[in-house]
Amino acid sequence: MDEYIAISLLNDFIFCPYSIYLHNVYMGGDEGIVHSTPQATGKSAHSAIDNNQYSTKKSELTSLSVYSDELGIAGKIDIYKADEKLLTERKYKLTTIYQGQIFQLWAQYFCMLEMGYQIEKLTMHSISTNQTFPIEIPSAIEKSQLINFINEFKNYNPEKPIKTNENKCKHCIYCNLCDKSEVENVY
Ligand code: SF4
Repeated sequence: MDEYIAISLLNDFIFCPYSIYLHNVYMGGDEGIVHSTPQATGKSAHSAIDNNQYSTKKSELTSLSVYSDELGIAGKIDIYKADEKLLTERKYKLTTIYQGQIFQLWAQYFCMLEMGYQIEKLTMHSISTNQTFPIEIPSAIEKSQLINFINEFKNYNPEKPIKTNENKCKHCIYCNLCDKSEVENVY
């Protein structure tokens, strides 16, 4: 059976590829251990969506499972408004939009296209500030960038030495579990 990469891990992989290895090691245990910082806030912000509580409108799909055989990825979307052909990803707090977050939204977009949905607009929404940010529909070149990134993810070797970044490690949810870092988690 083919393996699908979880779309939710793409942003973590940009933050630090080794965190994906740790995620795989620890995700089978208590999720409270590994989601214990701002990510936990973001996760609970998603819970209304994940429990299908957000929308009762027939034209809105929430928490839909999506996948792409072409890209080898799978995950869930937040909100798709069929009447506006709009796909939105919500985050608890967005001050800067990082490339990993854009990759996540592109990944959801390509999954939905492959599944036959029509999308003309993409947005990211900051729940804490109630702001919405439009994101460009990815071009063919940007699709290639996403595919290259997914291949990099698939071929990652955790035994390869990594250069750690103290500031990132301090804010990493895996900090206290990580054998590559000596710093203490700030949370
Ligand atoms: S603690 Fe540092 S090296 Fe370890 S996974 Fe997190 S960011 Fe990567």
